Amino acid sequence: MRKFDKPVVVVSKCIEFDSCRYNGLMISSDVVRRLIPHVDFRPVCPEVEIGLGIPRDPVRVIEADGKLRLVQPATDKDFTEKMEQFAESFLDNLGEIDGFILKGRSPSCGIKDVKAYTGPSKRMSVSRTRGLFADAVINRCPSLAIEEEGRLTNFIIREHFLTKLFALARFRQVKLGKSMKDLVRFQTESKYLLMAYSQKELRALGRIVANQDKKPIEQVLEDYEEGLGGAFAKAPRDTSYINVLMHLMGHFSERLSSEERSFFLNTLEEYRDERVPLSVPLGILKSWAIRFEEDYLSRQTLVQPFPEKLTDISDSGKGRNI
Ligand code: SF4
Repeated sequence: MRKFDKPVVVVSKCIEFDSCRYNGLMISSDVVRRLIPHVDFRPVCPEVEIGLGIPRDPVRVIEADGKLRLVQPATDKDFTEKMEQFAESFLDNLGEIDGFILKGRSPSCGIKDVKAYTGPSKRMSVSRTRGLFADAVINRCPSLAIEEEGRLTNFIIREHFLTKLFALARFRQVKLGKSMKDLVRFQTESKYLLMAYSQKELRALGRIVANQDKKPIEQVLEDYEEGLGGAFAKAPRDTSYINVLMHLMGHFSERLSSEERSFFLNTLEEYRDERVPLSVPLGILKSWAIRFEEDYLSRQTLVQPFPEKLTDISDSGKGRNI
């Protein structure tokens, strides 16, 4: 069974870790609870860190002169500078991390859909934006796995987030080891996953690993990390996964009966129609890799991108319409 490196993830503290919301409550999240044994969580509440108590008067984002500000309408106080300074020093001192799970719609932690107002006392929001802490996170760490807890209830978003998170955690170990051999193994074992994400980025990463210019390992790893961020920027389309799975079926084609082949093709149709998750056709491939002793395929990250216990087919109902 594949062993996974534990990703390091910053999480909004009010999700499952502390009753620190403005109203003294905590948010419950099945995804975060399930991740606890598999992830090294670093909980933080930016609003508490800048000195706001629990409970507290709520803050909101206002748009003034093209800039976002964090204000507390009840006290007329402006916490923008404090939040910006906290975010900068927190991110400076964080060390190596792989991702963030932040509280949606919060004026501090929300990564999108945060209401922005034209003034402290205005009733109507005028646009949607990011919270101020989340804005600093995204600007500083654009390649990491960053999501909101609410969006992770969507099956597609969750599967992409977990795939990227565990791949980044594994690459972090390669980076620490500074070994070309480990990087080659990472690239080899990630081949089909990267192919599903982006054929173009897969080829670009291959060129970085080939290192024709004889760059030092530190530079190669830096270039590779940047390319990996680009490869994982967006969740792959279902058709990309299907193309890769069809390609992999070709490895076994002559050793399979026509019933086995048509069963697999039917399963791909079911995956396309969102009737089964990706783990179903992947499970069939995995069983062939074991049966025909194709170690190269059994070791592919695509076959098991994150711990099996995190496979969960529940969905918010939006499916791929996101
Ligand atoms: S959303 Fe962020 S700032 Fe608000 S309570 Fe949660 S952790 Fe604190």
